[in-house]
This record gives sequence, C-alpha cells and structure tokens, in this order.
Amino acid sequence: MPLTREQKLDQLARGDAAFDVVVVGGGITGAGIAREAAGSGLSTLLVEQRDFSWGTSSRSSKMIHGGLRYLGSGHFRLTRDAVRERERLLAEAPGLIDPLRFIMPHYQKQFPGPKLFQLLLRLYDRLAGKPSRQRLSPADTLQWVPGLSTSHLTGASGFTDAVTDDARLVQRVLEEAEADGAICLNYMQAQAVLRNSETNAVTGVHLLDTSTDSQTLEMTVNTPLVINATGAWADQLKQTDSTDTRIRPLRGSHLVVPYSRLPVSCSVSLFHPEDRRPVFAFPWQGTTVLGTTDLDHTESLSREPAINREELDYLLQISSRLFPASAITERDVIATWAGVRPVVTQSPVVTQNKETRKPSKENREHVIWSDNGLISVSGGKLTTFRLIAREVLERGQ
Ligand SMILES: Cc1cc2nc3c(=O)[nH]c(=O)nc-3n(C[C@H](O)[C@H](O)[C@H](O)COP(=O)(O)OP(=O)(O)OC[C@H]3O[C@@H](n4cnc5c(N)ncnc54)[C@H](O)[C@@H]3O)c2cc1C
Repeated sequence: MPLTREQKLDQLARGDAAFDVVVVGGGITGAGIAREAAGSGLSTLLVEQRDFSWGTSSRSSKMIHGGLRYLGSGHFRLTRDAVRERERLLAEAPGLIDPLRFIMPHYQKQFPGPKLFQLLLRLYDRLAGKPSRQRLSPADTLQWVPGLSTSHLTGASGFTDAVTDDARLVQRVLEEAEADGAICLNYMQAQAVLRNSETNAVTGVHLLDTSTDSQTLEMTVNTPLVINATGAWADQLKQTDSTDTRIRPLRGSHLVVPYSRLPVSCSVSLFHPEDRRPVFAFPWQGTTVLGTTDLDHTESLSREPAINREELDYLLQISSRLFPASAITERDVIATWAGVRPVVTQSPVVTQNKETRKPSKENREHVIWSDNGLISVSGGKLTTFRLIAREVLERGQ
C-alpha cells in the first residue's frame, strides 16, 4: 500500500529522519534519479515544490525522439543515445509511449532537399538500428497529409519517432520509484542545503511544506547527498558562483486548434520561413498542436509561463504555410501552453541584458555540477531521463 501524505510527513517530522539521497525537483529528471536511486537500494526522498511535473515536464512537445536536428548539427552521441532510449521506451511502455509518423514535405528549391534529408534519415535509422525512412511522391504525400499546400510540392520524406503524455510519464516513473521504497512528496520546497561548517560536506536539507498557507510546517532531513534536479530553477539552489555556465531559460510555446479545423494524422514538419527553425503540426488527443517557439524567458519563474503576441503570430504562420486552405486564425485557437527549457549556456551577457548567442544556437545537452555532496543537473531532454539519472548517480558515488 502506498503511504499517505500524512504518513510520509510523520516519517520526516521525527527529527532524526535520514536518507542516503534527497532529490529536489519532481519533473522527469528528478523522477528518473529517484527511481534509479531507490532501485539500487538507496534510501531516497524526492521533494517537489508544487504538483509533480508542474515545471517543464508537463509543458514539452511530448516527443520521445532522437532529435534529428541535433544530428544535423553534428551531435552524433546525443542522437544515438536518444534514439536508443526511444526504442527502449517504446518496448517498455506501449500505450504511454507510442510511435508517431513524421512527414517532412519537400518543395522546389527549398532547403533541405530530399537527397540531403534522406541522407540524414539513413544515418538516423542506422543509429536506431531500425529502418523507418520513406520517400514519398506528391500523390503519396497527399494521402498522408490531405490539405497540404501542393504549390511546388515535389514529395516528402517520412520517418517514425514517438510521442508520450509527459506528465503521465513522470507520474509513472515516480510510482516505480515509490514501489522501490522512495518517498516522493509534492508541495514540499527545498529551502536550503545544509553543510558541516568545518568540512563543508552536505549534511542535510531544510524543507518547507507549501501545501497550506495557514500553517507553516518546516523540517530538516539528514542526508550526505542532495541532488538538485530543479531544471530552470537550478541556479537558485546551486550555491556555487559558477560564472562559466548558468541557466538560460528559453520559452517554447504551442497553440492548440480543433482537429476538425486542421486534421493531421501525423506530425508534419517545416523550417519556419522567418528563422529557418524546425517547427511542426501534430495530432494530440483529438486536437492539432502547432509548435514551437524559442526565445528568452525573462518573466519570473514562480509564475506559469505563457505565450505572447509575437509567438502567436509566429505559430499561426506554420498553418498558413502548410495548410493555406484551412485559413486558421487566432479565433480557432482553443488553448495554448508554454514551457521553459532549462538550457545551460556558456555565453556571457552583453550590454542591455541582451544575450550574445541566438536561442536556437544554444546546446541542449544536460550539464552536471558536483559540489561536495550537492549535485546539480540541468538541460537535457525528456527522452534521455534514464541515462541522465545514471550519470548523476555515478557522480554522487
Ligand atoms: C517547449 C518545450 C518543448 C520540449 N519538447 C521536448 C520533446 O518533445 N521531447 C523531449 O525529449 N524533450 C523536450 N523538451 C525538454 C524537456 O521537456 C525538459 O528537458 C525536461 O522536461 C526537463 O525536466 P526537469 O525535470 O529537468 O525540469 P522540470 O520539469 O522543470 O522539473 C523541475 C522541478 O523542480 C521544481 N522545483 C524547483 N525548485 C524547487 C525547490 N526549491 N524545491 C522543490 N522543488 C523545486 C519545479 O517546480 C519543477 O517541477 C521540451 C522543452 C520545452 C520547454
């Protein structure tokens, strides 16, 4: 029987509560670490300040993918690891992670042409150890994507990645962690990491129960190892003044329109005419989603991230390019969501608070910092959560 919140709090409030490891952050990264830690026999506590997966892990584009675009920019290892994880997740959790067909239409004189794209897909398939690449004629393309703009259409490339429900995935991984003995508590904020004044080694973490405004419940738990898996919030708990790397929060937003207005049965990609970034329209639980943007998120991280006017216009251009006949406008939008990418940057800030490097040029790989019992991790992807967890725990040994 899983423990109730009260039973979990009773265990922590005893005053002598001690764990081998305390994981801070209940997104996919923290959940994955808690599962691997508990599975390897460590007594494990995970705390999340709000709902589990309240952060980026419920606001992603929900793809379990190798990241074809990372391959395009030469990140072979990242792509290889991610496609292998995709295959493993598809086999382990059908129904939670399902295959999704992707179609990249090719138009005359538009980059990337079919030859180059097919070459990339050949490599992608090879890294996955499984072929899914297809080359489609214009007629076949329209069978897959009725309503697609046919002006100068020369055909399409097809391949298969996977899609999930990100928040459910986090929940599933947390349940597996609890089945192995971890205690996972939401509405519990880590306020400070405690250290021995002489050795500077980590001794514990101070927690605040955020489930109620009227009563303040604070407690300290003992542990020699704290893992800061707070994603975009990682700098707040990191304790070190690292000037070489820091979190650059980058927002990505999505639009949701009724499936009846934009019926797509697979994910349809294009390079956005404005900035040549890869964007897509994909089917999601009876709707069609258009995504995403990539820009600096300068608002407070304590508020839910939200789309702005500029992003809305940018995303509407996806449908007007791909499906002009559908004539999708702002009035068709039934919902939006936005998430903040916990991207780790090395670029210094230039004058007037403007970043030097374009958001789309930032590396998406995760980074781990180790500081005498406090390990911080940020960046990375939903897809590679198990690999990130293992790497973090190895650093903690
Ligand atoms: C728009 C967008 C689209 C994306 N699409 C994809 C995709 O299709 N596929 C893919 O693989 N990846 C995708 N990603 C990347 C992926 O979503 C993230 O890398 C991943 O969700 C990050 O998870 P996390 O656990 O590190 O961070 P989060 O999910 O943000 O979790 C961190 C948690 O820490 C909590 N926290 C913060 N401070 C404290 C504290 N002091 N005490 C307790 N808790 C605290 C926060 O409330 C939060 O819930 C996308 C990201 C974005 C933004």
